[in-house]
Amino acid sequence: MAALDAPPSPAAPVATGFAPDLMSYEIALVAFSGGKDSLGLVLRLLDLGFPRERIELHHHLVDGNEGSTLMDWPITEAYCKAIADALGIPITFSWRRHGFEGEMCRKGDATAAMMVPNQDDGHTAVGGSGPPGIRLKFPQVSNDLQTRWCSSALKIALMDAYVRNHPKFLNKRTLVLTGERAEESKARANYSVFEPHRSDTRNSKRVPRHIDVWRAVHAWSEHDVWEAIRRWRLVPHPCYFLGWSRCSCRSCIFGSSDQWASVRAIAPDQFGQIANYEREFKVTIHRTMSVVERADRGTPYEIDPYWVKVANRREFTVPVFMDPWVLPKGAFGNSCGPT
Ligand code: SF4
Repeated sequence: MAALDAPPSPAAPVATGFAPDLMSYEIALVAFSGGKDSLGLVLRLLDLGFPRERIELHHHLVDGNEGSTLMDWPITEAYCKAIADALGIPITFSWRRHGFEGEMCRKGDATAAMMVPNQDDGHTAVGGSGPPGIRLKFPQVSNDLQTRWCSSALKIALMDAYVRNHPKFLNKRTLVLTGERAEESKARANYSVFEPHRSDTRNSKRVPRHIDVWRAVHAWSEHDVWEAIRRWRLVPHPCYFLGWSRCSCRSCIFGSSDQWASVRAIAPDQFGQIANYEREFKVTIHRTMSVVERADRGTPYEIDPYWVKVANRREFTVPVFMDPWVLPKGAFGNSCGPT
């Protein structure tokens, strides 16, 4: 697909907030989930005139790359690629071997290795030789990343491993962009807008890496995010057209009762697998209710079969630029997700 060279509507207001001295960075590495806030990050960089050849999108495959579809939307990988291609920006991927399901079913094994991009356009295995352990339970709904282990094991650790292991980040200034917004929760409101990244080693003589984090949409409202996407006419992730207001995993542990009822309606096999795992582990995701009980209490969203098909397959064949652009029905809904 050809890259978009036409600018967005110049008449439209551009949401702002703090920005660092962007041109001093050689690489802008965007944590790109495919959700609206991660789109906002890329569009902010482009609106500020940052050269797209210095931008890289990076996406973590939560289910790994061995075929499991237990948790995530099957379409997400292809959707992220389609957006990157349309904007003329490279995209890279990382994952933990055996994905979410493998980590959850650990029974005496070490946490599996992380697969991160290397300089030969392939992937290198990092880690995987830790102490043996037993998991046999879903991550629990909690702010504690030890308990809610999916975010740390399948996302945060992967970005760290990528930046620490790829030589292209050595002797460079890299800006990592992440999409937390203050409006989402009290905890997120307290995040720094700009700070050194955990993997920063700018003062090291042996392995100097200057890595900063910029939460580029921290000050944005949800309206600002949708407005940026509308100006660029980009199609949002299919989950928003199904009524999801947050683009996380399809079966995110933070799902509301209505969301679990909707998962059961559009992905009955994976819903059944999750319910079986809960029975087998004798530990439910929610503190007091099984996913079946939660789905029974909920009401499925009004599901459009066209978007179910799009969201549940692996090829993204929908036009990336919408004309006319339509606000998806999940926008401004009750979002449920990590705080
Ligand atoms: S989206 Fe939900 S289930 Fe998926 S990794 Fe994040 S918190 Fe875990």
